Amino acid sequence: MTGKSFPPTYSEPAQQASENLRQIIPLVNRHKTPVNPVNYAVWYEYVSGTNDQLRHEIDQHLNSNKPITAEITQTLYEKYVLLDMPDRLEHANAGMKLVVDNTLSNINKVESAASTCVADLTDSQTVLDDCSDVDTLKTIVGSILTNTQTLTETSQELKVELEKSSSEIEKLRSELEAVKEVSRTDALTGLINRGTLDKELEKVCSQTKNTGTALLLFDLDHFKSLNDRLGHLIGDKVLQYFSSLLINHAGDNHLAARFGGEEMVMILHDVSHQQAVEIADKIRTELADSELKHKKDDQRIGRVTVSIGVSFFMAGDTPSSFLDRADRALYTAKDNGRNQIQTN
Ligand code: GH3
Ligand code: MG
Ligand code: MG
Repeated sequence: MTGKSFPPTYSEPAQQASENLRQIIPLVNRHKTPVNPVNYAVWYEYVSGTNDQLRHEIDQHLNSNKPITAEITQTLYEKYVLLDMPDRLEHANAGMKLVVDNTLSNINKVESAASTCVADLTDSQTVLDDCSDVDTLKTIVGSILTNTQTLTETSQELKVELEKSSSEIEKLRSELEAVKEVSRTDALTGLINRGTLDKELEKVCSQTKNTGTALLLFDLDHFKSLNDRLGHLIGDKVLQYFSSLLINHAGDNHLAARFGGEEMVMILHDVSHQQAVEIADKIRTELADSELKHKKDDQRIGRVTVSIGVSFFMAGDTPSSFLDRADRALYTAKDNGRNQIQTN
């Protein structure tokens, strides 16, 4: 697994999920913990082999013959299933509040120091109006200088404090960015997840000037038989490899998402019909020409191909009409023999 997402998503087919269930019940019972959603999720991730760190930590407990108690599963759940998300958000929230409070209190301090100085300077001016001797003049100038210096120092202190706040805000910003990234991506493939894709499609369809947007719908060919032949974990590796091709072709301008299972979507921006088909065809040939091998034992995976349906945005499209045309084109590609592109 390349990374987890939050909320967690599970893409195992029903048969694999049922097999996991069969393995989980005795595990939960052996450790005398109730089969509740928390314990179930932890053991589910353990037996499905999709969460390396969680598996490693449980194996360590098991190797030292320690029971996996409900307290332990709760901790593992928060850390490796929820990815510490509630804590991270709480921490970012508290950090932001602290920065804002500190900044306000610093501004108040400066304001009060400045008001005192201004009051002193106003007094000096009154005295200056009636001043007729040098000694008084000297005292007044001295007081003006002290006040000016205090103002300079106060603003210097404020500058230092604001710089501290700004670096604190920068840290919080990257933490929130990391949290956002986790909630945007699909755990297995690193592609944008379905929820984010739906929002992007809404955005595309709500813009008025949208010619030049194309939608590519990919469906790997005979993927079920690849899983049956080589196992689900190798199937996952193939999905990851194919997704990496999409990510490369998406670059900064386009978007690559997991639509569900072995189906992916790309949204291409500012492309002609011809450019969209060219991009789709590059991806199709790159996959078909890849000599995929299993890393561990160099076992050949065999030729993997993909069928692609392409649609082009039309005024008045909704996400479902835009997708539906690509889906119908994909259907034709499958019907006509797979490993090909059809447009609609
Ligand atoms: P077609 O060429 O008509 O698309 O045939 P297909 O076998 O690809 O289509 P089908 O829809 O029958 O099967 C899709 C398969 O994709 C079934 C499912 O096991 C597999 N699959 C879906 N998601 C995942 C996943 O996350 N990992 C793995 N390894 N397989 C997955
Ligand atoms: Mg499919
Ligand atoms: Mg398929």
